[in-house]
Amino acid sequence: MNSIQKINFKNKKVLIRVDFNVPLDEAFKVTDDTRIRAAKPTILKVLKDGGCCILMSHLGRPSFQDPQFSLAHIVSELENVLGINVLFSDQCVGEAPTQLAKTLKPGQVLLLENLRYHKEETTGGLDFAKQLSSLADFYINDAFGTAHRAHASTTVVAQFFPNAKCFGFLLAKEIESIDKVMKSGKKPVLAILGGAKVSSKITIIESILDKIDHLIIGGGMSFTFIKAQGGQIGDSICEEDKQDLALQILELAAQKEVKVHLPVDVLAADDFSPTANTKVVDIDCIPKNWQGLDCGPKTKAVFHKVVQQCQTILWNGPLGVFEMEPFSTGTIALGDAIAEATNNGSFSLVGGGDSVAAVKQFGFDTKVSYVSTGGGAMLESLEGKTLPGIAAMSTH
Ligand code: AMP
Repeated sequence: MNSIQKINFKNKKVLIRVDFNVPLDEAFKVTDDTRIRAAKPTILKVLKDGGCCILMSHLGRPSFQDPQFSLAHIVSELENVLGINVLFSDQCVGEAPTQLAKTLKPGQVLLLENLRYHKEETTGGLDFAKQLSSLADFYINDAFGTAHRAHASTTVVAQFFPNAKCFGFLLAKEIESIDKVMKSGKKPVLAILGGAKVSSKITIIESILDKIDHLIIGGGMSFTFIKAQGGQIGDSICEEDKQDLALQILELAAQKEVKVHLPVDVLAADDFSPTANTKVVDIDCIPKNWQGLDCGPKTKAVFHKVVQQCQTILWNGPLGVFEMEPFSTGTIALGDAIAEATNNGSFSLVGGGDSVAAVKQFGFDTKVSYVSTGGGAMLESLEGKTLPGIAAMSTH
């Protein structure tokens, strides 16, 4: 498959799967246009070459043709971002889009109605995918956020474009960034895993242990490891039934010569509240009725040093309850450390769930090498899975 850069789209009708699943307010105005802007380079490349674009996306999870979830709501925002008029088809398959697509001229953009108005989108309907494919002569997938779903528009449709498909700029960048960690990471490679639960990260840990040299385990999930090793964790969050698993992970890491770094001290609170009383204590001596909600100063220093040693850094999950200001300092200190290492030449990738929210909230998104746009898709990639939307592009 060719890269989008090398393809000339002159006179081509290009069906592009974008991710326009954007948040809307009560007046159906787009409140965050990040995803629309993220699709812009691919759309402009096709238009500049002299092709036309037929854009398709889902919006929300409608269970019927609910007007609340109409993509008509985003037309004006899309026009603002692209700086051109956008045509809209109130159906995504059938007579209306077929006629509009037929008369579409080079330089024009047509947006199709919400794909999820048809249940065949999520069930991966072959006939539905074929109807979508009949609108165009080239297919681009630029929706990383849905690449882990074997849906009609993300996966099934690709088979109707033999030798006429490619990834868009956004999806290509996501794949390249994940490969920079999972396949060709410059050593030493560091993974930082935080967040609330070990259980949600087990598969990632198992999959990355072969690829990394250092593993930082922070945030709520670290307490299961500390308790499993005999530490006193007070009322800190802990998955009691995952303690054996935690010990097995530590053993496996040792076998694979991965150095594991756990917090050494913690900011403990006497309540899960921003106004709680707090004190710094050793990670394995947290008193009864107190819970660890953020990193302590020694931990910040240790983690800072590890981050500076590494050439490739993957970060998933906050190191404390960053949503509450008094417990955000460990996550901020880690973001600063990663920004510093990135500035000194390391490659840093942030992705999956809450770490992206944290990174954006504290303004680190411009200071790391790449912030992934896909929560679930990113997590499944790190688990070592081949995403159906990506696999479908390599078959003819
Ligand atoms: P996850 O979705 O697994 O990445 O978890 C993210 C959540 O973990 C965030 O909402 C944090 O507030 C929470 N978290 C991080 N550290 C702690 C902690 N020490 N105690 C309780 N929750 C935590």
